[in-house]
Amino acid sequence: AKNAGRRTHRFFAPAMEAAVQSRRSLKQDLRNAVDAGEFSLVYQPIIALETNEPVAVEALLRWWRAGRGEIPPSVFIPIVEEMGLIGTLGEWVLREACATAAGWPRAITLGVNLSPLQFRKHGFVLDVVNALRHAGLPANRLDLEVTESALLARDVATRVALHELHDLGIRLSLDDFGTGYSSLQSLRSFPFDKIKIDMSFVRDISMDADSAAIIRAVIRLARDLGMKTAAEGVETRAQRDWLARQGCTEGQGYWFSKPISAAELHTLLAQPRRA
Ligand code: C2E
Ligand code: CA
Ligand code: CA
Ligand code: CA
Repeated sequence: AKNAGRRTHRFFAPAMEAAVQSRRSLKQDLRNAVDAGEFSLVYQPIIALETNEPVAVEALLRWWRAGRGEIPPSVFIPIVEEMGLIGTLGEWVLREACATAAGWPRAITLGVNLSPLQFRKHGFVLDVVNALRHAGLPANRLDLEVTESALLARDVATRVALHELHDLGIRLSLDDFGTGYSSLQSLRSFPFDKIKIDMSFVRDISMDADSAAIIRAVIRLARDLGMKTAAEGVETRAQRDWLARQGCTEGQGYWFSKPISAAELHTLLAQPRRA
């Protein structure tokens, strides 16, 4: 067993070494990415299921890494957080998205994702207010999307920050609902306006009666609490129709639109309403 262990070690060492190396160079590149202008935002419309019109747009971060192509946020955001750079990057996202949204031909809502770590930053509320003021975007057009893990710590600073933001008229959404911990406690402790139902439930509605039952219950719960619901990852007509029948207020996903560039979104919003 000892020998096998040593062999395993020797076998894996080069691969591990390579992984450490590539992580190191990833960090180096991330450190320069903001200055190099390698980050950009794409925008995905969120559609009111009753009217089929966009009521909001979510900003999603993209990193085009020189020589390597696009790296998904699920890969680089955890590393940016670990490096302590999410505050800087998050502030860039907020300012860039608010400035873009202020120029949209329709006064719809802008959704921006927040990392849990951003709340811990001293003066975070003021950063948000300054971004809005700088862009000339009214507070009620900004919707901050927070995941349940963000609230896990349930520290006083987070709770105070969320209430302050909400008192300013900024909207709050509970993102990825159903995938985190203590969801119901979060709903009671924080002033959310909207629940975003995670796409893992939406994907399974036609095959899995349990997923369908859970979504129905969440929609009902949100309605009773006076909150809106947005279903994520809507990819088919059947999913859209089923969600609309259940009383889900909004849908987001490839069925309506993939995330698109600021210019493409502008063109889309400039088109006359269908109704
Ligand atoms: P999220 O907030 O849940 O964003 C929705 C994700 O689902 C996006 O992935 C979007 O491109 C994808 N999506 C939308 N419609 C569909 C669909 O119909 N089918 C499928 N399969 N996927 C769909 P993306 O852009 O890769 O972002 C992944 C995650 O990265 C986001 O999940 C969010 O947690 C995080 N993220 C993105 N931008 C930011 C940001 O600016 N700040 C922070 N802190 N996190 C961000
Ligand atoms: Ca989100
Ligand atoms: Ca989500
Ligand atoms: Ca997610």
